[in-house]
Amino acid sequence: EVAAKAAASDADSGAPTIFDKIISKEIPSNIVYEDDKVLAFRDINPQAPVHVLIIPKLRDGLTELGKAEARHGEILGQLLYAAKIVAEKEGIVEGFRVVINSGASACQSVYHLHLHVLGGRQMKWPPG
Ligand code: ADP
Repeated sequence: EVAAKAAASDADSGAPTIFDKIISKEIPSNIVYEDDKVLAFRDINPQAPVHVLIIPKLRDGLTELGKAEARHGEILGQLLYAAKIVAEKEGIVEGFRVVINSGASACQSVYHLHLHVLGGRQMKWPPG
C-alpha cells in the first residue's frame, strides 16, 4: 500500500495518463456517453454492476480535484451533470453514488480528474 501511494503521488506530475489514449481512442473503451466536453466509459475493474468513469476531454490542469481553480467551475458542473445523464442511461437514476478520489491518500491512481458513477446494488456507508 505504501508503494502504491508513492507510485500514485509520482504520477501527479501533469504527465499524460492512460485517459488521454482513451480520449484519442488509441486504446479502446466502452463508451457510455460523450459530448464535446466530457467522456464517460466503463471502468475496466468495476466495483459495482454499474461503474462508469466520467472525465473532462481537456484536462486543463485538473490532474485531481484538489488542484481545481475557479476557472474550472463550468467543467466541474458539466461533469456532475453528466453523472446524472449516465445514471439515467444506465437505469440507476433512483439511486447511485458519485465518487472523486483526490490525491494519494484517497487512493487516486490516474491523475486526470474523473468521477466514478457507481450503482446497480445496495451501496454501503461509510466507504473504505
Ligand atoms: P483507484 O485506482 O484507486 O480506483 P482512481 O480514482 O484514480 O483510483 O480510479 C482510476 C480508475 O481507472 C480505476 O477504477 C481503474 O479501474 C480505472 N481504469 C484504469 N485504466 C482503465 C482503462 N484502460 N479503462 C477503463 N478504466 C480504467
